[in-house]
Amino acid sequence: MVFKRDLCSTEIFDNALKHIQKAYGFVEISEDIRKILEHPKEIFLANLPVEMDDGSTNIYPAIRVHYNDILGPTKGGIRFHPSVSEDEVKALAFWMTFKCAVVGIPYGGAKGGVAVDPKNMSAHELEHLSRAYVQAMADFIGPDKDIPAPDVYTNATIMGWMMDEYNQITRKQNPGVITGKPVHLGGSKGRETATSLGGYYVFLEAAKRYEIKKNARIAIQGFGNVGKYLAKFLYDDGYKIVAVSDSKGAAYDEGGIDIHKMLEYKKAQAEGAPTKKSICDLSADGTCLTNEQLLELDVDVLIPAALEDVITKKNADQIKAKVILEMANGPTSSDAAELLKEKGIIIIPDILANAGGVIVSYFEWVQNKTGLYWEEEGVHSKLKDKITKAFDKVHSASLKRSTDLRTAAYIVGLLRLKSALESRATEKHLKRK
Ligand code: GLU
Repeated sequence: MVFKRDLCSTEIFDNALKHIQKAYGFVEISEDIRKILEHPKEIFLANLPVEMDDGSTNIYPAIRVHYNDILGPTKGGIRFHPSVSEDEVKALAFWMTFKCAVVGIPYGGAKGGVAVDPKNMSAHELEHLSRAYVQAMADFIGPDKDIPAPDVYTNATIMGWMMDEYNQITRKQNPGVITGKPVHLGGSKGRETATSLGGYYVFLEAAKRYEIKKNARIAIQGFGNVGKYLAKFLYDDGYKIVAVSDSKGAAYDEGGIDIHKMLEYKKAQAEGAPTKKSICDLSADGTCLTNEQLLELDVDVLIPAALEDVITKKNADQIKAKVILEMANGPTSSDAAELLKEKGIIIIPDILANAGGVIVSYFEWVQNKTGLYWEEEGVHSKLKDKITKAFDKVHSASLKRSTDLRTAAYIVGLLRLKSALESRATEKHLKRK
């Protein structure tokens, strides 16, 4: 089993734990419960043999982490990315645990991944890989056990293949085994854009509290599923997006980027498997910047919507935005967050800002279980209601405890997990589990 990133590294996970450790200062919580919350419950590793189009077989390391299931079946996406590692997926599963707790949905946290570069694969090879993942993990997932969903470089089509494979293995229909499926296979209307729409609703709440005006300058790092739709929602609402990037570089336009043009270009690119072109190619009248330069732009709002750890103590000094809306999971390291706080920068944390995806995944699962399917407007209004209430709860906790929004979000999550843990069993019994 070889993941490219340092096998023994625990850096991302240890960093992630620092967030709850800060919240312990505000919530009375026993040492035993802390121990449970600081360790993943189970980790499954597999090597996936995948037949390539030329007839050869490649082996890809794969992982699924069940972090904690005290609030319900575990929930979290599967990412296909070359840098997937055990350390990263543990951190992502930890964040899912707190994300579900903070928005009050009945799930624990999980995450999965395969160390692979899907951009170099044909649709057939991707399908083989997706099915191989389910074959390896079939005993560990299930509609009442652990429910995967899309994440970085996975999408509805891949979820459809995975559900189909699971149904073949179990010889029955289990639409609720996976969320983020195509709508015609039992997916929820509105799931595709849910993470971004949730982020947009959170942005609107933040705009009221922190006086973000329509002429605010916004930079978005990442134009994948999350970044592109959020860019569209903001643009259609009249906000000015001066920079957007993908993995190859950043387009910049002082006067504001035409997001619809950008979307058309991306759509053409996305016909079939992911390709290697970049939005930068479209930046004819704008300047082409690096991703690092985008983060350091003199803007009002910075939205990291790609991968974790992009704002670290190395560049924290250079960040000029007044508000950071974390649409990626874990984009700001904990030491960078401290430096930004000293500079008076407000961070709206990932476990709140990007929770729209898992909220609508929950709605999808409820629809699959009941067999009653909702219209898109219903999904949107329920999402708005849930995420806005979560924002209010976190915001009031931060005022009440005079702390930053991230610590407040962890306090809210911690209180929910603590109550569930305490109601399930006496502590003595918990220790034996
Ligand atoms: N991958 C998304 C996240 O990180 C969605 C997870 C889900 O819907 O289960 O929140």
